[in-house]
Amino acid sequence: MFTPPAYLSPSSINTYRECPQKFKFSRIDGLQEPPTWHTHLGTFVHEVLEHFYQVDADDRTLDTARSLATARWKESGWEEHVNGLLKPLGSITDFKKAAFECITNLWQLEDPQQTEIDGMEHEVLAEVDGVAMKGYIDRFIFGDDGKVVIGDYKTGNPPNPRFKSEDEKFFQLLAYALMLEAADQEETSRVQLLYLKLGASHEVTVTPVKLAIARGVIVETKEAIDNACTTESFECNVTKLCDWCHFKPICPAHQ
Ligand code: SF4
Repeated sequence: MFTPPAYLSPSSINTYRECPQKFKFSRIDGLQEPPTWHTHLGTFVHEVLEHFYQVDADDRTLDTARSLATARWKESGWEEHVNGLLKPLGSITDFKKAAFECITNLWQLEDPQQTEIDGMEHEVLAEVDGVAMKGYIDRFIFGDDGKVVIGDYKTGNPPNPRFKSEDEKFFQLLAYALMLEAADQEETSRVQLLYLKLGASHEVTVTPVKLAIARGVIVETKEAIDNACTTESFECNVTKLCDWCHFKPICPAHQ
């Protein structure tokens, strides 16, 4: 019998639903996936934007963003991180160009001088229908109605609608809305996926039905994980995505 993780996060729930065996490798066996070009790009851009929104509103210009990006690059040792990638998708210049394109596109999504962020990289610990959950919210803003707007920066492309429904696309943010409600009694009005690469925002109004669907996914997945731990049986979901799975060389389905 395996011990289930003490907490689930919206992303670990997504991993289990994508492939239970992959969840076992990462969350039960504790095997780490090495960073990729895309995860490094996301982390670097998040880091720059987190610092950018701490600057006084009047100073939130493209020049400030450029200076901050240069400072974060040096202070956090990003040159070494990117050079250390096992499968780089380009040169350091390519990486910087991709990152700066995402940062520049922020101005297509909003006017940073008119946008005040109330919480960034906010840790939430909460019980949702008895399921212990933990996660980090990229950002949230209190609207004029006192309700929260949760936002998540994305540096990649939106998922193909053929493979991911709208509910699946917004599951992570709706789970955060449930977690904020459980932990801080905050009500969420909207959730936004901020696609920086495209300069486009995809958002939905939060409704009781959408929250109920997300709640059902959390409870149902927790039950499935507990059951898989008890029976020591984690199914391999073999799909085309296996070609991008770090664990393929040790996966029982590919031996
Ligand atoms: S290779 Fe495929 S089946 Fe195996 S763990 Fe990864 S996603 Fe799952």
